[in-house]
Amino acid sequence: MKNYQTARGTQDILPKDTRKWNQVEDVIKQICHVYGYDEIRTPIFEDTSVFKRENDSSDMVNKEMYSFSMNQKDSLTLRPEGTAGVVRSFVQNKNYANADLPYKVFYKGEMFRYERPQKGRYRQFNQFGVENIGVKSPYIDAECIALGYSVVKSMGLNCVKVLINTLGDAQSRIDYREVLVEYFKEHLDGLCGDCQRRFVQNPLRLLDCKVDKESEIMKNAPSLQDSLSVESKQYFDQVLQALDNLQIPYEIDDRLVRGLDYYTDTVFEVVSTHSETGSQSAVFAGGRYDGLVEYFGGPQMSGVGFAMGLERLLLLAQAEGIQLDEDDSFDVYVMGLGEVNDVPFNLATMCRSAGYKTEFNPTTRSLKAQFKTVDRKNCKAVIIVGESELANNQVNIKFIETQKQICVDIDKIVEVLDAQFEEKEHGHEHGEKCECGSCNKEND
Ligand code: ATP
Ligand code: MG
Repeated sequence: MKNYQTARGTQDILPKDTRKWNQVEDVIKQICHVYGYDEIRTPIFEDTSVFKRENDSSDMVNKEMYSFSMNQKDSLTLRPEGTAGVVRSFVQNKNYANADLPYKVFYKGEMFRYERPQKGRYRQFNQFGVENIGVKSPYIDAECIALGYSVVKSMGLNCVKVLINTLGDAQSRIDYREVLVEYFKEHLDGLCGDCQRRFVQNPLRLLDCKVDKESEIMKNAPSLQDSLSVESKQYFDQVLQALDNLQIPYEIDDRLVRGLDYYTDTVFEVVSTHSETGSQSAVFAGGRYDGLVEYFGGPQMSGVGFAMGLERLLLLAQAEGIQLDEDDSFDVYVMGLGEVNDVPFNLATMCRSAGYKTEFNPTTRSLKAQFKTVDRKNCKAVIIVGESELANNQVNIKFIETQKQICVDIDKIVEVLDAQFEEKEHGHEHGEKCECGSCNKEND
């Protein structure tokens, strides 16, 4: 029989891990909320032309896209990144006409890239990202970095550093391109096949090569800093100044060009410095882009954004030994002993309606076996429905931590649970005076 497995480069996120994912997503939502970024959900596939723009030289567009066609005519592509879809939507919905720019959104979801799978690199993975479109300001570039940095810090990560660079404005890049062509044409033979292609398509991209990165040819390549226009230089200085104000440490890396073709001015990458991360060290990365809004048919408008790899974020948290919320405990376990018919089931329903996370087992297993389950499932209170108590409309409730067991009338169960859980939360006996609003209400 066929042995069914997840497709290469994909993975199940199992229940034991989804709790961590929810925690990350809660942090993201909270931070985006205070920064005033609303969530956007764009389709998982789009017209290929949304991602593949003419002459794009990036690896992602040229080698990593999952493209398909259903009728020989339209080519569709599973999204490899979030920015293009968001900008397409920005133009399609005429958000550029809004009087209150910038347009600020965040997204999170699956991305697809045909890459060689390894730890921290998958074919289906999740990104969280933000886009801020319509206003160009060094403060916004800094705000964007600060938002991502804040997510990483809120997760408890310590071993991260911000690498930052500027690609300059259009003129700076035209000038730099000439300088690079002049330099690399002498050294083409010593470079990898991809670099030969990059030399023709976009020489700037040569600096992004992972194969030749450490070679002498790369190390001696002229720096873009020397080709920067006065305006670009000034803009970059202001971004750095804003980061200083925010007390976000950074390192200027004049070889950082980023993998996509649409970036201008500020580009950044936040990497892990933890020894276990290997070459998959980038946690989030992004930059300012020009020309994308125009590409989709909108006016000339600039934007800035980043994307964060969530699998990588979780791997880094694990590498740094950060304990993410793994509370899998139950408040209540309801067990039946003997001929008790549907009473346990009804009691479980009652506890759930009262908001208690409740486990209920319909099988008639022994008391001992059921208590083993109670232990494994980390249940805090157990309702034991036995025949003799039931005859008086009563059940036993046992609280695991204190080992206290009491016999209560069935219609008082929720009251007893409320009192016990409240007592635990506030550290006093039910009925004692407590400053908190809900206890006071109870006591009144
Ligand atoms: P890399 O240099 O690692 O290939 P990239 O430049 O292709 O990264 P971006 O397109 O900037 O990555 O994506 C932003 C973030 O998404 C990365 O910093 C990383 O955390 C994550 N990421 C990118 N590709 C993958 C992948 N195949 N699997 C898991 N996470 C990924
Ligand atoms: Mg990549």
